[in-house]
Amino acid sequence: MPKVVLATHNPHKVEEFQAIVAAARPDLEVVGYDGPEPVEDGTSFAENALTKARAAASHTGLPALADDSGICVDVLGGSPGVFSAYWAGHAKDAAANLRLLLDQLSDIRDPHRTAQFVSTIALVLPGAPAGPETREHVVEGVWPGRLAFAPSGSGGFGYDPIFVPDEQPSSVERSVGEWSPEEKNAASHRSRAFRALAPLLATL
Ligand code: IMP
Repeated sequence: MPKVVLATHNPHKVEEFQAIVAAARPDLEVVGYDGPEPVEDGTSFAENALTKARAAASHTGLPALADDSGICVDVLGGSPGVFSAYWAGHAKDAAANLRLLLDQLSDIRDPHRTAQFVSTIALVLPGAPAGPETREHVVEGVWPGRLAFAPSGSGGFGYDPIFVPDEQPSSVERSVGEWSPEEKNAASHRSRAFRALAPLLATL
């Protein structure tokens, strides 16, 4: 069975990736990564995703997938962006991150609360012939929406309880915190990036 290593320690992301990969390539085994973690010091999602995928590919010798993702708020010039996981400090406290973002936007009215979840996925193929075109691929998925004034729902993770996608699965408008995992996996930034990656995975 062909294998791909997933360079993330976030159990929510592993679950989402596994569901998305199983739908696209049921014969592809997704294995976890427990090797050394590089420092994510890039200033773009693509740089960080490539750094993580390169480390996993060279440590395991397997094709490696890594994503870097975050929420980009228009009125904040695209922040938190690559700082999404640490917006309220290095503790990686998701509740504190969400509270800080809501506080920063408390005076911003609805038409100006637009935001996007962005996922950039890097695929690094250790055995492929040399050359950036064949060894490394980067794809991006963007999920447009806006930020609510208060969290709702307990599903998902991170900023899900305050993110209200433009396209809703039903007529009642809900935050992603109130969506089912299936609804989220069908529409999310990660699934959008993954759709762009599917033709490349087909070649593994
Ligand atoms: P990463 O693990 O370095 O990619 O950091 C991603 C951070 O962006 C997470 O810790 C969350 O704060 C946020 N984020 C990314 N994807 C999602 C999502 O699907 N839902 C909610 N928050 C997300």
